[in-house]
Amino acid sequence: MAENGHHCGGDCEHCSHAAEERDEEACRIVKNLSGVKNAVVVLSGKGGVGKSTIAVNLAAALAASGKKVGLLDVDVHGPSAVEMLGLHGAQLMATEDGRIQPVEAFGVKVMSVGLAVSDADAAVVWRGPMKIGVIRQFLSQVDWGSLDWLVVDAPPGTGDEPLTVCQSLPDPLGAVVVTTPQRVAAADVSRSLSFCDQLPFPVVGIVENMSGFVCPYCGKRVDPFGSGAADALSEKYDAPVLGRIPLDPRVCASGDAGRPFAPSMAGTPVGDAFSEVVAALEKAAAEKAAADAADGAPGA
Ligand code: ADP
Repeated sequence: MAENGHHCGGDCEHCSHAAEERDEEACRIVKNLSGVKNAVVVLSGKGGVGKSTIAVNLAAALAASGKKVGLLDVDVHGPSAVEMLGLHGAQLMATEDGRIQPVEAFGVKVMSVGLAVSDADAAVVWRGPMKIGVIRQFLSQVDWGSLDWLVVDAPPGTGDEPLTVCQSLPDPLGAVVVTTPQRVAAADVSRSLSFCDQLPFPVVGIVENMSGFVCPYCGKRVDPFGSGAADALSEKYDAPVLGRIPLDPRVCASGDAGRPFAPSMAGTPVGDAFSEVVAALEKAAAEKAAADAADGAPGA
C-alpha cells in the first residue's frame, strides 16, 4: 500500500513530508498497514441491509480464491462478524513483540471489538473518543502482516467509526456501499455516499442486497423490497453498481451458523451474484494498481 501523506503529519521513515502536525499514531498506522495492497470499507447508511454479511462473505470469498485477506470489524455496538464467522468465544493473543494477533477463520485474519471485550453479549458503552482510540489501535497494533485485501466492516451511518477508519486508512481502494432495493433505503444510503464525497473518500461502487427473491415453489421472481435504489444512487453519485445479491434463506442460515455462504454457493443465483461483486472489486483493484504504477506512486 502506498504511503499517503494526506493522512500522516509525522516525519518518520514512512512519511516523505515534514512534520507540521505530528501524529505519531498516524505514522504507526501507515507503517503497520504498509503490507496491505487493497483496503475496502463496507458502508451503509442503514442497519439491517446486509452490510456485515457482504463484508464477511467478501473476505471469505477472496480468501477462498487464494488471496491473503484480513477483516476488521469496527462495528463497536453490533460486531456481528464474530458470530458470522463462528468465532464466538475465540481468544486474542499477543505477538512476541507485544502486538495483537488477529484470529483466523476460513482463511481470513479477523479483528473485532467482539473479540476484544470479555463478554461479547454485553453492551459496549463507549463514547466517541474511546471508539476512535480503539479503532486506531486496531489499525496500528494488530499484526496484519502482508495482505492482498483488508475488508473493513463499519457500522451503519456516518458517525465516529466510519469517519475514523476512512480518515485513517492510507491509500484505500475505497468504499463498497450496501443498499437494499427500496426507495426508503436509498434515502438513507445516499448519506453514506455524500459522506464519501465530503471527506473525500473514493467509492468503489454500490451493492444492492436482498434484490429480488425467486419463489422456491413456483419459480417466479418477486421483489419484496421493491426495486431501483442501486440504480438511483448510481446515477446520483456516478458510482457503478457492483452487483445485486438476491434474497435467499440460505444466506441468513449461513450467517446464523457462523459459516460464510460465498465460497460454497457457486452455481446458485446468490453465489453467482456474489462472484460478480468479487470480480468487480478485483477489476477496480487492478485499475488502481495500473494507475498508481503510471503515477509512479511509492508501493505501486
Ligand atoms: P447489517 O450489517 O447491514 O446490519 P446483516 O449483515 O447483519 O446486516 O444482515 C441482517 C440479516 O439479514 C442477517 O440475519 C443476514 O443473515 C440476513 N441477510 C443479509 N443478506 C441476505 C440475503 N441476501 N438473503 C437473506 N438474508 C440475508
